[in-house]
Amino acid sequence: MPLKRVDKTPMPERDAVLRSHDFIEVNEGYNIQRARFEAERCLRCQDPVCIDGCPVKIPIPDFVHAIAAGDMPGAAKILRAANPLPAICGRVCPQESQCEEKCHVGTRFIPVAIGYLERFVADWEMGQPPGEEPAQPTRPEKVAIIGSGPAGLVCAGELARLGHPVTIYEGLHAPGGVLRYGIPEFRLPKGILDWEIEQLKRLGVKIECNVIIGKTILLDDLFDEMGYSAVFVGTGAGLPQFMGIPGENLNGVYSANEFLTRVNLMNANQFPEADTPVMVGKSVAVIGAGNTAMDTVRVALRVGAEKGMIVYRRSDKEMTARIEEHEHAIQEGVEFHWLTNPVEILGNEDGWVTGLKCVRMELGEPDDSGRARPLPIEGSEFIMPVDNVVLSIGNRPNPLLLQTTQGLESNKKGCLIVEDETAQTSLRRVFAGGDAVTGAATVILAAGAGKSAAATIHEDLCA
Ligand SMILES: Cc1cc2nc3c(=O)[nH]c(=O)nc-3n(C[C@H](O)[C@H](O)[C@H](O)COP(=O)(O)OP(=O)(O)OC[C@H]3O[C@@H](n4cnc5c(N)ncnc54)[C@H](O)[C@@H]3O)c2cc1C
Ligand code: SF4
Repeated sequence: MPLKRVDKTPMPERDAVLRSHDFIEVNEGYNIQRARFEAERCLRCQDPVCIDGCPVKIPIPDFVHAIAAGDMPGAAKILRAANPLPAICGRVCPQESQCEEKCHVGTRFIPVAIGYLERFVADWEMGQPPGEEPAQPTRPEKVAIIGSGPAGLVCAGELARLGHPVTIYEGLHAPGGVLRYGIPEFRLPKGILDWEIEQLKRLGVKIECNVIIGKTILLDDLFDEMGYSAVFVGTGAGLPQFMGIPGENLNGVYSANEFLTRVNLMNANQFPEADTPVMVGKSVAVIGAGNTAMDTVRVALRVGAEKGMIVYRRSDKEMTARIEEHEHAIQEGVEFHWLTNPVEILGNEDGWVTGLKCVRMELGEPDDSGRARPLPIEGSEFIMPVDNVVLSIGNRPNPLLLQTTQGLESNKKGCLIVEDETAQTSLRRVFAGGDAVTGAATVILAAGAGKSAAATIHEDLCA
């Protein structure tokens, strides 16, 4: 089929000046005309390499062709069979380094907007009457899920569909993991997450919040005292890392996790109507350049900072944030200080942050991560006046379960060790997946791990 258009159909988005003061979603989504127009750009290749780029192997040309043909129920069915969280992944997946990176159209032109099309179909589906009938458990073996991020939610849904009674235990007061407390409303409206959780409840999944496994209940007790036959650990990687530089204990320094949780989960942007504040001055420096850093600096602008800055020791080529988030941050007025490494956070006599001492960097040979190694330039220190510093330099799994569960094994980064084939940990019938196993990764990888673990748990329990 000849290629008709080289450019992808633009995604309508809200005005940058208006949106940088509120939390309403930035991307407005395709309408049906735009979606069909874009879907027609797909060549339906004999060798659909886009599928190779998708971690859960969505049959991309099939669902895209169904859109082009105006068959939305068909497109939704194909999509959801492969990806249990399409409305979420259509918004937050790094498509530019997955399916769209591989797309044949992209070798000469702009690749097919697979992510935008995924989002369109999933949003269409949410507007339809509920399809799947509430399930009744058909199996006696109960399964406990620890953590309600994408890994836990997907694992729970799949197991419920397979007939198991399932309960999710979540330490926070609301379910969703990073999808609720990390990714802000202007990228992922909470109504979408709530809709997905509602579908799980219709399937019979029970969710108990404010229960920390390893503290409120021990993992072993889930088997011995509560009668579960298997446990899936989807506890994520929510433990923030710090740089270890002087001044990290000053007032006005946050980890990105704390900063985002205060706003996204505790509604600090509505303080004093909400109980939790977030103390933001005129100028906020966020250290790091991943998705979390980009979310943090954009939230900082929305909660009152006049100046939001990204400070990163490498260049923009090495940043790990999605391209779209970087572009949106530029449009919203975020300043980028590339090749700049903080060495000290400065404060006044009252213990409040006043500045960030940095050193300029240059790039050397690649390091273990394959990225150019940043090296300090001697004598290049300078001071950046700031009121807040937010550290967004990575997260690790929380060690609580390891400390309270005998025989549960982890690697030196604190990630749970699992068998590749079965996702079983060092303990019989304790399975794990998502960031708790891989370290901080992506929503689709966590969802995919939850889905495949559910299949092996079911197989194991029914053997
Ligand atoms: C700010 C931010 C932005 C991101 N942006 C993107 C993006 O744009 N695209 C993308 O693909 N990925 C993104 N990610 C990464 C992605 O969100 C994670 O990879 C994904 O959420 C991991 O899912 P999970 O289910 O393994 O864990 P999580 O989502 O971390 O969920 C784990 C849950 O387990 C709970 N828990 C932990 N310990 C216990 C316990 N002992 N008992 C009970 N409950 C417990 C936690 O409270 C949490 O709710 C982002 C991450 C962050 C922090
Ligand atoms: S590689 Fe691109 S053009 Fe080919 S089937 Fe996949 S989405 Fe369509």
